Amino acid sequence: MRRVLVAVLGALALVLGAAGTAGAHGRVSADIVDTASGRGNVVSFTFDDGPNPPDTLRLLDVLRRHHVKAVFCLWGDHVVEHPEVVRAIVRAGHTLCNHSMHHDDLSTWTPEQIAADLRETSAAIRRAVPHARIPYFRAPFGAWGASADVAASLGMRPLGWRYDITDWEPPGTDVLVQRLLDRLTPGAVVLMHDGGGNRSQTVDAVDRVIPVLRAQRWRFTLPEGC
Ligand SMILES: [Zn+2]
Repeated sequence: MRRVLVAVLGALALVLGAAGTAGAHGRVSADIVDTASGRGNVVSFTFDDGPNPPDTLRLLDVLRRHHVKAVFCLWGDHVVEHPEVVRAIVRAGHTLCNHSMHHDDLSTWTPEQIAADLRETSAAIRRAVPHARIPYFRAPFGAWGASADVAASLGMRPLGWRYDITDWEPPGTDVLVQRLLDRLTPGAVVLMHDGGGNRSQTVDAVDRVIPVLRAQRWRFTLPEGC
């Protein structure tokens, strides 16, 4: 009887051990995630093309005051220029996303070329913040090509979006606020920019929109698959 019990426990340990190994080293899904985690009126804010002081630093202050956590999709060249801002992003408890080294259109690149670029970008981020967790990759211009599969093979979930507020050509803070309030749908991952130009209007819009959305019982969560 005792021997049987030992055998059963041994088999169970094997099964659990195998599951644990799969969990730790299992392949990340290459499906592009564009959904905020949680139910009901949830939304994920994501910010691309930084780090870009002073806008990124001011955005961090805004998010801190409103107790919102976001995803920052980092442009490798900018990481090399402003490692201290990457450290500030991580210190504030936000989540990192690899957005390639030079913001190239990767859609025609070979998997090997893409892998080299993504590895270089993650290495630059980890020179700024050793052992930084980088759970996501977002393709520049949403031009994925082979990059979703490559990112997954490197342990990063491809991060898409449902709604792009098109703030790269700043239309005025009022317009950005209105776009956010009018077009938001439950579960949306929203794409905004803290880098690639003057993003002060985006920062102002985020500062104004969060209290309004909270009053409407929206909750701010991270994207699924993190
Ligand atoms: Zn971008």
